Amino acid sequence: MRDDDHATSINGHELHPESLMMGYGYRPEWSEGALKSPIFQTSTFVFKTAEAGKKFFEVAYGLRQMGPSETLGLIYSRLNNPDLEILEDRLKLWDGAEAGAVFTSGMAAISTTILTFLRPGDVLIHSDPLYGGTHHQCQHVLTEFGIHQVSFIAGRGPQALEQAVEQANSIGRVAMIYLETPANPTNGLIDIEHCASVARRLSTPEQRVLLAVDNTFLGPLWQHPIQHGADLVLYSLTKYVGGHSDLIAGACLGSHEDMQKIRASRTFFGSMAGPWTGWLLLRSLETLKLRMTSEMKNARYVADYLLDHPKVDRVLYLGHLDENDPDHAIYRKQCLAPGGMISFEVRGGEREAFRFLNALQLIRLAVSLGGTESLAEHPATMTHADVPSDQQRQLGISPSMVRLSVGVEHPSDIIADIEQALAAV
Ligand SMILES: *Cc1c(COP(=O)(O)O)cnc(C)c1O
Repeated sequence: MRDDDHATSINGHELHPESLMMGYGYRPEWSEGALKSPIFQTSTFVFKTAEAGKKFFEVAYGLRQMGPSETLGLIYSRLNNPDLEILEDRLKLWDGAEAGAVFTSGMAAISTTILTFLRPGDVLIHSDPLYGGTHHQCQHVLTEFGIHQVSFIAGRGPQALEQAVEQANSIGRVAMIYLETPANPTNGLIDIEHCASVARRLSTPEQRVLLAVDNTFLGPLWQHPIQHGADLVLYSLTKYVGGHSDLIAGACLGSHEDMQKIRASRTFFGSMAGPWTGWLLLRSLETLKLRMTSEMKNARYVADYLLDHPKVDRVLYLGHLDENDPDHAIYRKQCLAPGGMISFEVRGGEREAFRFLNALQLIRLAVSLGGTESLAEHPATMTHADVPSDQQRQLGISPSMVRLSVGVEHPSDIIADIEQALAAV
């Protein structure tokens, strides 16, 4: 598909991503006039001629550059597939990215991206806390491949990053700064623009230092890291983008140049998503803004309710940031709304948090987030169980902490459930 095949404006009026999610990147004449893209459930594609097949392979294997009006022909579904290509074209609109690639999971997107750019001896600087799977990957997997990692704590300002840079420089060549902002589950923020300037500063003509941001929590609606200088944006599409807790997928977005490298490693790691998942995500994108807006509004009601509750000690919610909190300025600069994730501490400890979780009736006790249904979980023993308890304390993950992903239910029903579950504590 060529970008200029589809209008993104009408008489100079720029169309918004939500208006383009229903049709952009797909032409009904490809499939008997079908309004919706079919599921291209095929492993391989027929070449019109042997010459066409040869041309496609030359591009696919990098034997020659693609011509200006050329697109990569369809070859084999590990390289490309129409459902994935349409999905990638639509996904990149939200973040204003040049290109994107979808993967079989968020972890596949993250590991493929990291292994595209880091080599043994390189150092990855990452924020802390990280998503549990990414944390494990950095601590236990990348280290086995000789990739070092140094971390800094989210929400502790620019000095925390500077200390990490100093430490990293003493170990090896910094190749990437990797962020999760807001941090999971504390909602601590990191200044993307500042990290981008540090990445540029550390870059040399031989080695570009990339800034990658996992935007799963606020994106792609409420935060656009590329606009603040990030090179790569990563997603677990399993969460808000998929939005119905019925699929696992991931994505990486960035420049044509960087994405070409990432797509090449996706081909050889074989970490691409399948056409059925791609099709489900196309359906999900049509309601993305509706869902994320509803969840964001509901979360505000829930967070305000929790704030006043006598059995709740602390509410970590981006919509409650105090003017004097350094995170407030970062929020104003790079976030468009507080999103739908709330963490809070039940007065007491693990026992009280478990009582609350076990008493819930409407909100389901499960990890994951960003689905239409509200979910609650216990970070210290579930998503962040891999983090040693002294480190959990340092990161602000307490035994009494509960993480909520607020869904699209009626807000008064969510609050009624929380009210009765807190009464049971
Ligand atoms: C879930 C999640 C991931 C991993 O994604 P999967 O789709 O489960 O592989 C990565 N980062 C964040 C922030 C997540 O929430």
